[in-house]
Amino acid sequence: MKPVIVWFRQDLRLADNPALHAAVQTGAPIVALFVLDDGRAPDRDLGGASRWWLHHSLAALDASLKKHLVLRRGDAAAIITTLAGQTGAQAVMWNRCYEPSAVARDTDLKADLVAQGVEVQTFNGALLHEPWELKTGAGKPFRVFTPFWNAMRAREAARPLPAPRAMTLQRLDGDRLDAWNLLPTRPDWATGFDWTPGEKSAQEALYDFLPHIAQYRTARDLPDRDGTSRLSPHLHWGEISPRQVWQAVRTHDHSDGAETFLKELGWREFCAQLLFHNPGMTTNPLDARFEKFKWRTGKKDLSAWTRGQTGIPIVDAGMRQLWQTGWMHNRVRMIVASLLIKHLGIHWRDGEAWFWDCLVDADLASNVANWQWVAGCGADAAPFFRIFNPVLQGEKFDPRGVYVRRFVPELAAMPDKFIHMPWAAPQPPRNYPAPIVDLAEGRARALAAFQALKQS
Ligand SMILES: Cc1cc2nc3c(=O)[nH]c(=O)nc-3n(C[C@H](O)[C@H](O)[C@H](O)COP(=O)(O)OP(=O)(O)OC[C@H]3O[C@@H](n4cnc5c(N)ncnc54)[C@H](O)[C@@H]3O)c2cc1C
Repeated sequence: MKPVIVWFRQDLRLADNPALHAAVQTGAPIVALFVLDDGRAPDRDLGGASRWWLHHSLAALDASLKKHLVLRRGDAAAIITTLAGQTGAQAVMWNRCYEPSAVARDTDLKADLVAQGVEVQTFNGALLHEPWELKTGAGKPFRVFTPFWNAMRAREAARPLPAPRAMTLQRLDGDRLDAWNLLPTRPDWATGFDWTPGEKSAQEALYDFLPHIAQYRTARDLPDRDGTSRLSPHLHWGEISPRQVWQAVRTHDHSDGAETFLKELGWREFCAQLLFHNPGMTTNPLDARFEKFKWRTGKKDLSAWTRGQTGIPIVDAGMRQLWQTGWMHNRVRMIVASLLIKHLGIHWRDGEAWFWDCLVDADLASNVANWQWVAGCGADAAPFFRIFNPVLQGEKFDPRGVYVRRFVPELAAMPDKFIHMPWAAPQPPRNYPAPIVDLAEGRARALAAFQALKQS
């Protein structure tokens, strides 16, 4: 029988994988393919932390496929059309990606394959609902989260598919994963990454989290606790599907915590549909008024921010958590982004780019939408003039400074009273920088810039 090519992308799993499921149903031998299109990626190349994750995730998928994952590197469309010809494939199947450039690339590829006489089938494996399914009463895409969520919550998600019981995999020549050099070497900055990529570990993360979900509503805001699921990189790479997560949560309990958690999955969908309908938002503000905003260049400040050397403890703890672990707590992501954009007046795109490189869960839609949200220029964004005070945020969400002390050891001996403002202590620590910005002045400057924007 002629083989079916299954093109894996952000769906590195066997269970609830609609493309793989459909390929198995045909009874044909399956070519399981992954293409690394770095240098030619439709939107942008993978960041460093994503490359680390991808290496380990592909190794895990290859093990699940009994060493039959075919790896190729280069222009994905060219590789797939050639491979379809060489193998005489009857069909190519994949789960859809929704980033605009990926959509354009995949549409062209589909047309080329069909012209070549190869059947193409594509599926939804990444979202609970297709980005075009939920519409406002006027038939438009949503720009405001709450009505989007109400519409989404009113629909039940499709049930996840089981993993195939058996399949025939066709072995083909391909690259060696190690030869892709996805892992950092000199220096190996990933030694502090405490993650196990792969489908099995994604399931474990979900089932470890479920017993705590009832407390999620309050625990999710406290960065010193493991109060959130840490599923984001697994979800981004599709080691687990949102349908699997949704169903597991719904079956587990109906607490406020569970409902709040489902809403976060709603934010993930909201971000995906925003990018799908607003392809320009990766670089341009959704609120066009912000195109005229006067940003500062602030190279030195940007560098201090990336290195966790701003002298503002909760910000430095977050930026060091990001560097050391490839992840940052959501509350702290908002605080560090707010400081960069508002107190330092630096463009949200600079922060977004740093996150893109450092996050293991770097996701174009979620990253861009959240940065724009903090900047006040996104859809349904927090207003620009609502400026987080990082000292008050620290005192509220990390009252004993447990999180700060973990990532900023220079402050380990600081009394609780000064842990979020060591500069005010009778003896400020010598080995920790003074704040790079006076918080009151930074706030006043941000508000003045916003005022000038409104007047222009
Ligand atoms: C400036 C900024 C940048 C961000 N960049 C990313 C990014 O690149 N990739 C990413 O996945 N998330 C991003 N987020 C959203 C959020 O911080 C992470 O999804 C969350 O911290 C992941 O941890 P968790 O899996 O434990 O989340 P949980 O609290 O357990 O939430 C469950 C899931 O819901 C989704 N989710 C939660 N909050 C959000 C949100 N605000 N927006 C979209 N989805 C959400 C994630 O898929 C997450 O895994 C960003 C937030 C901010 C403020």
